[in-house]
Amino acid sequence: MDKSEFRKWSHKASDWSADYLETLSQRPVRAQVRPGDIGRMIEDSPPDTADSMEAIFADFERIIPHGMTHWQHPRFFAYFPSNAAPAAVIAEQLATAIGAQCMLWQTSPAATELEVRMVDWLRQALGLPEDFKGTFQDTASSATLCAVLTMRERALDWTGNRAGLFGQKPLRVYASKGTHSSVDKAMWVSGMGQDNLVHIPVDKNGAMDIGLLKAAIKSDREAGFQPAGLVVCVGGTSTGATDDVAAACAVGREEGLYIHVDAAWAGSAMICPEFRHLWEGVEQADSIVFNPHKWLGAPMECSAHFVRDPETLVKTLAIQPEYLKTYGKEGLVNFSEWSVQLGRRFRALKIWFLLRAYGLGGLRTMIRNHVAWSQSLAERLGGEPDFEITTEPVLSLFSFRYVPEGHRGDLDDLNRRLVNAINDDGRIYLTQTLHGARQVIRFTAGPFEMEEQDAQIAFETICDIARGLDARAS
Ligand SMILES: *Cc1c(COP(=O)(O)O)cnc(C)c1O
Repeated sequence: MDKSEFRKWSHKASDWSADYLETLSQRPVRAQVRPGDIGRMIEDSPPDTADSMEAIFADFERIIPHGMTHWQHPRFFAYFPSNAAPAAVIAEQLATAIGAQCMLWQTSPAATELEVRMVDWLRQALGLPEDFKGTFQDTASSATLCAVLTMRERALDWTGNRAGLFGQKPLRVYASKGTHSSVDKAMWVSGMGQDNLVHIPVDKNGAMDIGLLKAAIKSDREAGFQPAGLVVCVGGTSTGATDDVAAACAVGREEGLYIHVDAAWAGSAMICPEFRHLWEGVEQADSIVFNPHKWLGAPMECSAHFVRDPETLVKTLAIQPEYLKTYGKEGLVNFSEWSVQLGRRFRALKIWFLLRAYGLGGLRTMIRNHVAWSQSLAERLGGEPDFEITTEPVLSLFSFRYVPEGHRGDLDDLNRRLVNAINDDGRIYLTQTLHGARQVIRFTAGPFEMEEQDAQIAFETICDIARGLDARAS
């Protein structure tokens, strides 16, 4: 492709992107395809001779968009949001054009120095103390893996990477039952093992029972285990369960544990001072993760990983074969020593564009609107005789259940059918979860382009479809 072609097709892609965003609300939110539908439309083998860009682009338009679930759709209320703010999308295009590889300071000085600044901008935006430094990982799963590896190495006095775990006392990590599965996976990958992740029971709000945490650590020590770390949850994925951060950190400190706070989704809301009570005491943690690629508007992948003592992370993860040595450049930050991956994308650029193009004020307004709209939707649904709110809103996340009077069948089954019917309809997209043993439906407001009327459409869609379902079932 010559440069004039590149110019032409880049413009075409920009136009396509703007048209896509402008007409997005006319598409069904969740892809309405069956497994295999898209795969069958793709050639079996790669071409020997070049295709024209006309043909490639036409195939893209014909095959791909209708096979996608539209995460930027203003009525995407499933999982957690994955926002791609337009200004940050532009930054991604630029970083991709540069082909940046940001493993060492010298492979991309501007990327490294901007990353140091952007992590600090976010630290200030969240109201965290100055002693937190950090980096951008691809995902929260990676940040949590780095934290769990640090727990392991610190507990073993930095001998684990070399000697492995053979012959060591089993190391224990503590987390609530509501913690994300990425913690379990980090235990698998770190070699510490699933059985050494101790799930502490939770109270009725889903917060870790602090008395039981202390008791578990004590009995583990007596049984010959070595407690190594604690993962604290702020805004759990299922229904927003949140630990008492101050109380959990106090126990962690007393016991000499490495403390990691997972606020992957809820962390974005901490740019609003009035929500910071949710993680009061967080400055006592050793590391914190939150995902600007969820609610804040940075396109995938961008996870902010704050650490109070970068030395512990670097001692865990730095490796310097000859080809990575940077003679004469000692003392500079090489972010590949802060992560599992070596090659790294230029993630700081999209944060720079995002924070400048919207301002913290603009992003706070978005988050406050989402929280307010979600809370008023919960109130309206809760006021209907045939719906119940099963978990009250945590920020913009709540769960509910359809409980029509006189329904004789299985309510779990009814609610499962309701989620499917809503998502087949396509106006909105929701997902289900378990609350206790009951099947409930989650709602979370978070799309960058959502407006208040989208919550109104959610209300109408949920009520219409539920009541239609019931009529058919009886
Ligand atoms: C989404 C989420 C994760 C996982 O985030 P990834 O960036 O997809 O790895 C972890 N913890 C919580 C609480 C989450 O909501």
